[in-house]
Parts: sequence; structure tokens; C-alpha cells
Amino acid sequence: PKEEVLALRKKFLNPAIFHHFKQPVMIVDGKMQYLFDETGRRYLDAFGGIVTVSVGHCHPEVNAAVIEQTQRLQHTTSIYLHHQIAEYAAELAAKMPGNLKNVYFVNSGSEANDMAMMMARLYTGAHDIITLRNAYHGLSEATMGLLGQHTWKFPVPQGAGVHHALNPNPYRGVFGNDGPAYARDVADLISAATPGRVAGFIHETVQGVGGAVPLADGYLPAVYKTVREAGGVCIADEVQTGFGRTGSAYWGFQNQGVVPDIVTMAKGIGNGLPLAAVVTTPEIAQVLASRLHFNTYGGNPVSCAAGRAVLRVVENEGLQQNCADVGGHLLLKLRALQAKHSIIGDVRGMGLMVGVELVKDRDTKEPAVHETAVVFERCKDLGLLLGKGGLYGNVFRVKPPMCWTHADVDFLAAVLDQALSEL
Ligand code: PMP
Repeated sequence: PKEEVLALRKKFLNPAIFHHFKQPVMIVDGKMQYLFDETGRRYLDAFGGIVTVSVGHCHPEVNAAVIEQTQRLQHTTSIYLHHQIAEYAAELAAKMPGNLKNVYFVNSGSEANDMAMMMARLYTGAHDIITLRNAYHGLSEATMGLLGQHTWKFPVPQGAGVHHALNPNPYRGVFGNDGPAYARDVADLISAATPGRVAGFIHETVQGVGGAVPLADGYLPAVYKTVREAGGVCIADEVQTGFGRTGSAYWGFQNQGVVPDIVTMAKGIGNGLPLAAVVTTPEIAQVLASRLHFNTYGGNPVSCAAGRAVLRVVENEGLQQNCADVGGHLLLKLRALQAKHSIIGDVRGMGLMVGVELVKDRDTKEPAVHETAVVFERCKDLGLLLGKGGLYGNVFRVKPPMCWTHADVDFLAAVLDQALSEL
């Protein structure tokens, strides 16, 4: 029973481990875009286990691949040869543009970003890293230093040599939707806070935890130029945005027409199995050639089997196109709600990576924090599991499994409309 699970968590799990909702839900089954609690009640999942269940809960093709591999071999590490890691690396590299053809498999987004930063520093011989305000790249000791949100920071020294640039947020940012203006500020930051040379720049392509915030138009081409002129490499964190989620592109960075030097990926890559990767050019990868580096679970056969199945399903089921179609319908429906409910300050995003920001006043943009929490809880009671985030905790995050349909969008809109009307 739920109460017993809560009591055990409280007694034996670290107190940092939190749950959503004052009245938490217990989930025992999942099927594609739906979750089921211990009473059998069905919920529409708009958050996909924090943007991780990419192709659907317990997708039959992923399950079959995992079961088959589990029954043959689960683990040896990469000290022996196995076909899964090699074939998967080739298949993943085939999805990448330019010369991004070298893969290192790890297990989580934090690990991938740790490694990307390390590669950037080794490759350039420089130390300073530029990141963005409102960023989230993980909670390992190193990636916590990249955080651009006070909510997650611990009061211990972090991130020596990390500099937070202005967030190119079209809704709240100081330069509005003028991407090149924010990039010029990065040039000033490099002059002001570093020796003039940097190791790299790391960014999400739509800020995820920060509240589904897209980068201002034209930001990436301009900032990449600036960073490269300062000797740095450009690192795109595709942990939330990869594998077609933004609809208009397979990788989020492609929406602004750039090719990064290092790309990190996790979450949706394995549909829930622990899997992540750092993909870079053979030249940058070479910095580890003369060193010993190792990751025990990285590229284990079971996770690789899941990752390969995800690539196939995204392709065969046209999920990138589905994200574009269903995501377009979602934006229309949400904008109609925005016209009706003045508390909705902003509706934004791409594909199935959408944010709805609640404000007390559209002019001052004062965050409607309490109201967001109330509506969040009410939607759950009405059968819809949203995500929540943003620097102030006033943004609903809609990032469901990519198999969502128009009918799912209509259900979300009806539930949100009711919950907002009841406020
Ligand atoms: N990067 C981004 C963009 C993320 O959203 C997250 C997780 N929310 C991470 C990195 C860290 O991933 P993990 O929790 O797997 O370490």
C-alpha cells in the first residue's frame, strides 16, 4: 500500500529524494503514454518520467530487445568485445551531422556532461567554461557548478572557472528575442572574467528544467563564433531535446543551424534504461587516447539493445514528425487557453517540449508560484500528470512520450482549462 511505501521511503531513503504532489501518486504500471496507479486508475503522462520515456512506456519493441539481450548476456564491461556497443555506436554516429562520429557511452546526463567538460579542458588546455543562467546540466560535483538555478545549488564551493552568461530567454531575457545581442554579451563576459581564452561553452538547446525555454533566435550561430574565436569548443546538451523531440529537427541544435564540437545525450536515448553518451569528433576524442579511462556500466549490452531499439522506433513510427504535428496542435490549444486565462503569461516551445508559464500580472511578469502548485495538483486529480519547473517554479512542462496523439492534447487542454477556471 501507498502509506507503507511512503513510510519506508521516509525511513530509509535520503531526505533529498522528493516526490511530486502533496498527495503523491504511486505508479505501478505504464503503457505507452499512460500510467496506472495501484488502484488501476489511468493517468495521461505529460512528463515521461522527466522527459526520459521517449517512445512510450514499456514499448513492445524496446521490451523485446531488452528481454532478448537480458537472456543472453547482461554485463561484461568493455574489456571484452561485444557486438552491441560497436553496432550501436555506428548507428548513433550515423544520426550525427558533420564529423561527430566518436562515441563514449556512460550512464547518466551528469556523467556525460562531466566528460564533455573534461574533454574540452584537455583539448584546449584552457580551464574556463561558459554556461547559461537558468541552465541545468546535472547534479554531480562538477555539473552542479554549471547550474544556473539557485534552487538546486548546495552551499559548498562549486564550479571554479565557470561563468554564467545571460540567459537568451525570449520572454524574460534583457534583450528579448535578439540572439546576437546576448552573444555580444558573452564576448564581453569572456573579456571581463577570463584570460581571453576559454575551454568551452555548454548549453541546452531548449532549457529543460529551467522551464522549456527556447534560445533566442540567432543565438547559437553568433555565440559559437564568439566562443570559437576565444579558442573554446561548443558543447550541446541534448539530454532532453534529442531524438526528434523538437519536431523540426532530430537534434535541438539543428534548429539554429549549428554543428557543435561535442554533444551529450541521455534520458530519452534509452527510453528509461540507464544510458547516456558523449559524441564528439575523432580529433577531440583523441585527447583521451594516451590515458586510461573507464566506465563500468557504460555501453552495457542491455542498455545498448534498448538504445538501438529507440533509434529504430523513432524512425519506423515517424515520431519526429509526430512531435511536429502533435506539438503544433498543442501550441494552438495552449494559446487558445492563454487568450482565455490571463494568468498564462507565456506559451512556448517546439514539438513535444513545451512550457506554460503562469504569472500574476502580464506586465510585471510576477511568477504565480502558488497558483502553479495548486493547478499542478488539481490536474493530477483530474488524471493528467504534468511536469513543473522554471527558475521560480511557475512553469508547467509538457514533455510527454513522443507517441502522444491529438486526442491526448485535447484531454490536456480540457483538464488545464478546468483547473485554471477553478482557481
Ligand atoms: N542535462 C539536462 C538538460 C537535463 O535535463 C538533465 C536531467 N534533468 C541532466 C543533464 C542530468 O541528467 P541525469 O539526471 O541523468 O544525470
